[in-house]
Amino acid sequence: MKTYRIAAIPGDGIGTEVVAAGIEVLNALAGREGGFELQVDHFDWGGEYYKKHGRMMPEDGRDQIRDHDAILFGSAGHPDIPDHITLWGLRLAICQPFDQYANVRPTRVLPGITSPLRHVDGDELDWVIIRENSEGEYAGVGGRVHQGLPLESATDVAMFTRPGVERIMRFAFRVAQSRPRKLLTVVTKSNAQRHAMVMWDEIAAEIAREFPDVTWDRMLVDAMTMRMVTKPKSIDTVVATNLHADILSDLAAALAGSLGIAPTANLNPEHTYPSMFEPIHGSAFDIMGKGVANPIGTFWSSVMLLEHLEENAAASRLMGAIERVTADPDFHTPDLGGNATTDKTTAAVIEAIRGAND
Ligand code: ATP
Repeated sequence: MKTYRIAAIPGDGIGTEVVAAGIEVLNALAGREGGFELQVDHFDWGGEYYKKHGRMMPEDGRDQIRDHDAILFGSAGHPDIPDHITLWGLRLAICQPFDQYANVRPTRVLPGITSPLRHVDGDELDWVIIRENSEGEYAGVGGRVHQGLPLESATDVAMFTRPGVERIMRFAFRVAQSRPRKLLTVVTKSNAQRHAMVMWDEIAAEIAREFPDVTWDRMLVDAMTMRMVTKPKSIDTVVATNLHADILSDLAAALAGSLGIAPTANLNPEHTYPSMFEPIHGSAFDIMGKGVANPIGTFWSSVMLLEHLEENAAASRLMGAIERVTADPDFHTPDLGGNATTDKTTAAVIEAIRGAND
């Protein structure tokens, strides 16, 4: 029997509620599937930890989770703490040193879910957005000087390296190649950003030669927003920079029905460090403690976690269970227009896992 060590970092707000639900579901799955078990270690890092200790995670925090097989993350954010502290102090403090350079965001209209786009269902909207997660506009290069003086200035430099662009392009072409349509759109802005984005385009064309069976095209990010809304079926796999994909994937989550459903994986594809899985929503303090947070984004992220561990049978059993549950409006939480609680939806998914014969 294989034992996987999972580091659970629920964080703040509804992060604590959805990660608890995610662990319950993962344990039910390990029990149903056999062959593996989970050892889950909980870490209470985040905004509350910051209020007590003046930092989002302990100094040796990364050492504590370095040898885990995967990280299940909730959300970091606190109404009293500036966002750049919560983000750089925890999520990015894990993503960057663990070289989780590929952020993968599947988007699909699940059964029973209504897209705000008329007549669009899972046949027409089934995408994977790949976000460069280690450099670009969020590289952290820049500075702020002369604060409080008329001369105050600040820079954020978008930094792109050839190895960084090559590896994300290669990863994206591989994902596109693994999907039935073998179709990749490279998002760019090389008309206005005439240095780094031109290099981005050139490297895309170079890597494309390694994947003759993948059809690819290039699209300016502004035009891409229109294409996502007007021709969703023309899109399959997408690769974009850190900033561009950040924005496009929120649009994608909204088009797929709710922020509460969307999952993401921060992958270190070489498995040198653990990868991290999380719903894309934030702490949502407005609904915290009410028991109505939609746990589906965390469940779908858990599917990605299982795929990363190559527990493919368990991953597809969980995805099947999620789809059976979303198909029934009785189990829709309020963000989807229903009145189910987090617990009710979680129990339904566990029931579907236990009942599934496939
Ligand atoms: P943060 O600052 O941590 O990003 P936020 O509250 O600004 O958090 P989100 O949590 O991403 O932003 O979400 C915005 C809104 O969407 C929330 O206020 C909430 O009403 C809704 N929402 C997000 N996630 C969920 C969920 N899982 N279930 C139900 N509603 C959700």
